[in-house]
Amino acid sequence: MNDTKLAPTPGNVYSFSRIKCLQQCPLRYRYRYLQGLKEAFRSIESFLGNAVHDVLEWMYATRDIGPAPDESMILERFAASWNTDRDDTVAIVRVDDEEDVYLKLGREMLSRFFRETFARDRSETVALEQRLSVRLADTVVFTGFADRIGRTEKGRLFVIDYKTSKSEGDGSEFSEGLQAPLYASCVLADNSEVEALAGYHYLRYGTTHWQQVDGERAAQLLERFLDLANEAAAAGEFPARPGTLCAWCGFNAQCPAAEVPERFSGGLRRAERDGRRLL
Ligand code: SF4
Repeated sequence: MNDTKLAPTPGNVYSFSRIKCLQQCPLRYRYRYLQGLKEAFRSIESFLGNAVHDVLEWMYATRDIGPAPDESMILERFAASWNTDRDDTVAIVRVDDEEDVYLKLGREMLSRFFRETFARDRSETVALEQRLSVRLADTVVFTGFADRIGRTEKGRLFVIDYKTSKSEGDGSEFSEGLQAPLYASCVLADNSEVEALAGYHYLRYGTTHWQQVDGERAAQLLERFLDLANEAAAAGEFPARPGTLCAWCGFNAQCPAAEVPERFSGGLRRAERDGRRLL
């Protein structure tokens, strides 16, 4: 079992994912971030996202030290990484799906990215999978990982977040409004620049949504995040908020409020096989 993929974020370190988890379901937040419980499974969608991200990181790292990889090398790398990392913590939530559906999707996303973006991308890489961290108050540290930090050919600093999600973001706070712009805010401070671009690249569609972050916006974003982290720290009740996401929640076998339809019960069955149904 790959424990690090399932481990919670500790203590007073607040990531965007942690705050988003509280918004989506306070009980899941309590299990994961306050009680430190491990989720019983990883959905195959999450595993696919990690596998694709690993290959993207490798593509840019390889290009930085020698010839850029071609499409066949990229797909070989993806297949190898999938086979090596796939373990029994990964669950196919949609019970009618076969694993090949996700492998094919990963190949399609990487091929599209290679042809439409990577092959003509002349930007410079500043950092890959870069951990960013800023102390916002005595008890609150914001942290996150930027997929890629770079500079355009014209020298503009940017942060990009790769998304394998089914739909593109809508610009709202927990969709696109905070995550990449917060990372850009950290990068601005680290590089003493006056502005940076924050982007989301949607790998299923080959589209990128950009935002500009200057010093004033960065200060607002960090202040907003501090408010959200303070609200999380002050929360005293953690009600269940059941819904569609229950099928993808690794606590669904132990949660008394879980709502998991049979057709999306692959994760639940996986958890039950592990003896995680406690009630
Ligand atoms: S199963 Fe649903 S209600 Fe229960 S913790 Fe998970 S997301 Fe929340």
